[in-house]
Amino acid sequence: MRVMLDYTKQEQWKNGFGQQQSPVPLNTATAQAAVANHLLVWQNDIEGVSLSDKEINFQMNGHGHAVLEQRPYQFQQLHFHAPAEHVIDDDQAAMEWHFVFQDAAGQLAVVARVAHIGAPDPVFEQLLTQFKPHETVTLKQLLDVHAELPATGPVLRYLGSLTTPPLTEGVRWYVAQTPLSVSKGQLARYHQLFEHPNNRHLQALNGRPVLQTKLN
Ligand SMILES: [Zn+2]
Repeated sequence: MRVMLDYTKQEQWKNGFGQQQSPVPLNTATAQAAVANHLLVWQNDIEGVSLSDKEINFQMNGHGHAVLEQRPYQFQQLHFHAPAEHVIDDDQAAMEWHFVFQDAAGQLAVVARVAHIGAPDPVFEQLLTQFKPHETVTLKQLLDVHAELPATGPVLRYLGSLTTPPLTEGVRWYVAQTPLSVSKGQLARYHQLFEHPNNRHLQALNGRPVLQTKLN
């Protein structure tokens, strides 16, 4: 039997790794300004293909290419946390979206976007509408997610981990400061499907540098 991940017992999750865990509190005033051209480059082929029930949330599986810090990656999936995991300047958003990328060596990078309550999001709407409990459904059309990927504004980056077991470290995090929005109604529908919070508690930075880079 599959056991659903229990966030009320997360202090018992086994962290067989080190001192570079995620999520972390992010402070824009103390982040180190770092200029980088072409930090996040999205190819045209990044799209959602299917939608899976992960019990704690849903996950859009997809394909496509990106170049992050001059390294090639493939888009794997987009999943959701409510409330947000990263806390930016003491502000915890209603949601956080994780775009997961993997390079040819299996190395992971996660592009994170917080979402506040506001205008409805069209991609989230498609996922809410097409979701089927306990199934992986093929989306009716390939879902273009470029409008959800950060293209402007500052991005905070640091080296961390997966935020669910096995909590593997060596994950490159890119947390966009420019938020997305979902409507109150969309978040309510999401919580009808997934009622429990699925945010891991904040982890200590332990001296890790946080860099802030403005996208072109
Ligand atoms: Zn996540």
